[in-house]
Amino acid sequence: MSPPTQASSRIAAPTVVASREALREAVRTARARGQSIGVVPTMGALHAGHLSLIEASRRECDFTIVTIFVNPAQFGPHEDFQRYPRMLEADLAAISRIGAELVFAPELTEMYGPRHATFVEMEGVAEPLEGSCRPGHFRGVATIVLKLFNLTSPDRAYFGQKDYQQTLVVRRLVADLDLPIEIRVCPIVREADGLAMSSRNVYLSADERAQALTLGRSLSCAAERATAGERDAASILAAMRNVLAGAPGVELEYLALVDPDDLSPVSRLTGVTLAAIAARVGQTRLIDNCLLPVG
Ligand code: AMP
Repeated sequence: MSPPTQASSRIAAPTVVASREALREAVRTARARGQSIGVVPTMGALHAGHLSLIEASRRECDFTIVTIFVNPAQFGPHEDFQRYPRMLEADLAAISRIGAELVFAPELTEMYGPRHATFVEMEGVAEPLEGSCRPGHFRGVATIVLKLFNLTSPDRAYFGQKDYQQTLVVRRLVADLDLPIEIRVCPIVREADGLAMSSRNVYLSADERAQALTLGRSLSCAAERATAGERDAASILAAMRNVLAGAPGVELEYLALVDPDDLSPVSRLTGVTLAAIAARVGQTRLIDNCLLPVG
């Protein structure tokens, strides 16, 4: 296998394919050249968080594939599938600036034929938090991720810690179904004021955006308490609620301190603990999280 070349020396507009057949052909060609393959699954409306995943893949793999597909199977019936931002031209321009070898941007019917009937059901880590607020969400995620893995047969796949539970679901999928793929998780990229980048942030009005900052602030507050030696989960949660109380427009869906491996609730912090939050700000559902250190 050839060593990855300097990413900066191979910036070029990516080849864009929309069919599974063309994708498979490009993968075959890359493999025949002995190239390692990295895949970055996205739903498009790319921001710096997505681009950080693409850059990580380019550092570690010879051939980076970015997939852009708004996956209906992971949206609930009353969620924002129809209005989810779609901006392929801008996405391709952003990818061209940092480089990637291939973009796979299929139509809906390319991924789900009229007789599609197979879905991946996961128990355990897929059940709490997002799983209970968004029934069927991880069924849709696990199904599309498996399909994309089958189509791209990557060496490595890149996901963001922003969707922490999703990274556990993908790791479980890969372990349980014996997929020879290394899962890489990249840090959350935030706006200068601390708001976690999300394609959904475009829905926020100026006032809602200001209120949304309390999500990150409540997580920072939790991290400060943990660093200062607080071990009682209830007292950290109370401090977080106190921060959130300053933003009446933030309607909490959950606020949880959980074990980062199995997402079970913790009452005392005995090791690194995941603080996870989901809230509605107006019509927009936001999530954020932070791994709390133990001093
Ligand atoms: P999405 O397009 O929302 O499905 O996200 C595609 C990938 O980008 C997922 O692995 C996300 O976790 C990741 N991602 C989204 N937002 C961020 C962020 N702010 N920082 C890092 N990764 C992110």
